[in-house]
Amino acid sequence: MSLPTPPDGPSSTGSGIEPAGPADVPAGAATGPVPASESVGAVGSPVLPGTESASATGSAAPVGVPVPAAEPQDGGLPETGAAPMAAARPRRTTVILGAALALTVIAAGLAAFWLSAQLSDSRDRITEQEQQIQDQQREIEEQREMIEQKQQFGAAMADLYATVDPLVGLPYATVVPWTQIEAFADRAWGHRRNPAALERDTGDVEAFTAGLADRVAVARTQAASNASGSPWEAALDDLGRGWVTTTFDETNRPCNMDVMACVSGAAPFIVHVSADTRDDPQLTDWIRTGVAYHEYAHVLQFTNPEPTASAVTAFGGDVETMADCYALTVLDGWSLEHEVPIDEYSYWEVSVGYGYTCNDEQKQVIRDWVDGLGVQLRPVGA
Ligand SMILES: [Zn+2]
Repeated sequence: MSLPTPPDGPSSTGSGIEPAGPADVPAGAATGPVPASESVGAVGSPVLPGTESASATGSAAPVGVPVPAAEPQDGGLPETGAAPMAAARPRRTTVILGAALALTVIAAGLAAFWLSAQLSDSRDRITEQEQQIQDQQREIEEQREMIEQKQQFGAAMADLYATVDPLVGLPYATVVPWTQIEAFADRAWGHRRNPAALERDTGDVEAFTAGLADRVAVARTQAASNASGSPWEAALDDLGRGWVTTTFDETNRPCNMDVMACVSGAAPFIVHVSADTRDDPQLTDWIRTGVAYHEYAHVLQFTNPEPTASAVTAFGGDVETMADCYALTVLDGWSLEHEVPIDEYSYWEVSVGYGYTCNDEQKQVIRDWVDGLGVQLRPVGA
C-alpha cells in the first residue's frame, strides 16, 4: 500500500515544532503551502501527513523511527523516506569497515608473526653459518699446524737419515738402532692428528740424531790416535775403524777375570787389556795381535746380536771358540799354539785361546757372518 500523495506541494510537518499556520489550526490540517525548506528542515523528526492511511495505523509514526520509503508515483523522490534511508547506510559501512579493520589487524598480526618467524629463522641460519665458518677456520688452522709439524718431523727424519747414511756398512749394527728409529716413525704416525705430540716426536728424533752425530764425531777422533802405541791398540784401531777403545787394566784382572783381555756387553766398544801383557816375556807382538783379533770378535758379537745368534750355533753356542775361529779365519797365519823363544836353546810353549781350532766349515760360517754384519739401510714406515 502506498501512501497517498499530498494534494499539492510539500506536506505540512504537523509536528507542532515549527507552526506553519495559526495556532488554533488543528494539528495535521492543511494550512496551505509550506516552503520546501521548512518541510525538510524537520530532520530527525519526520511526521507523516495526517492522512487516512496514516490514521489507519492508529498513530503517527514515532519521531525518529524510520519509515519505509514510499514509492513516489510520479517518479520523484519520496518526501519522507529520504531521512530513514540516509540513517541505514552508515551502519552497513560501519560493519564493513569494522570487519575490514579487524581483518587488517589480523593480517597485520599474522604478517608481524610471519616476519618475526622469518627473522628468527634467519638469525638461526646466520648463527649456524657463523659457527660453520668458525669450525672451518679452526679446522684449517689445525691442518696448517699439522702440516707444519709433519714437515718438521719429516725434516728431522731426513736429518737422521743424513747422519745414518755414512754409517751404512759400518760393522756395528747396534750403532744405528733401527728398532728405535722405526718406533719414532710409528709413534709419529699415531700422532698424525696431534700436533703437540708430533712436536715432541720431532724433538725426540732431533735428540737421537744429535747423540748419534756425537758418537760418530768421537769415533772419528779416536780413529786418528794411537795413544799407547801398543800392538794391541794398533790392531784394534785398524780393525775397529776408530770405534774401539783400548784400555789397560792395572789390576791385571780385566772384567774381574784372570784373562789377558776382555770385552763387556755393557760397553762393547771398549777392550780391557791386562796391564802386565805389555811386558810379559811369554808374549810376542804377534800373540798380542792375534788376541786383539779374538777380542775384536767379541765387539762384533755384541754389536751384531741377530746374526751372531745364528752363527754361534755352529760353535755349539760357545762365543769363545767362535771368537778364536774369527782370529783363525781373518788373521792369516794365526794359530792358537805358539813357541816363544827364551834363548837360542829353549822356548816357551804358549797356548792362547780356548783350545779348539775350528775347521773349514766353521771358518766359512765366520766369513758369512762377517759379510752379514753391520749397519744396513732400512726403509722406515714402508
Ligand atoms: Zn774371549
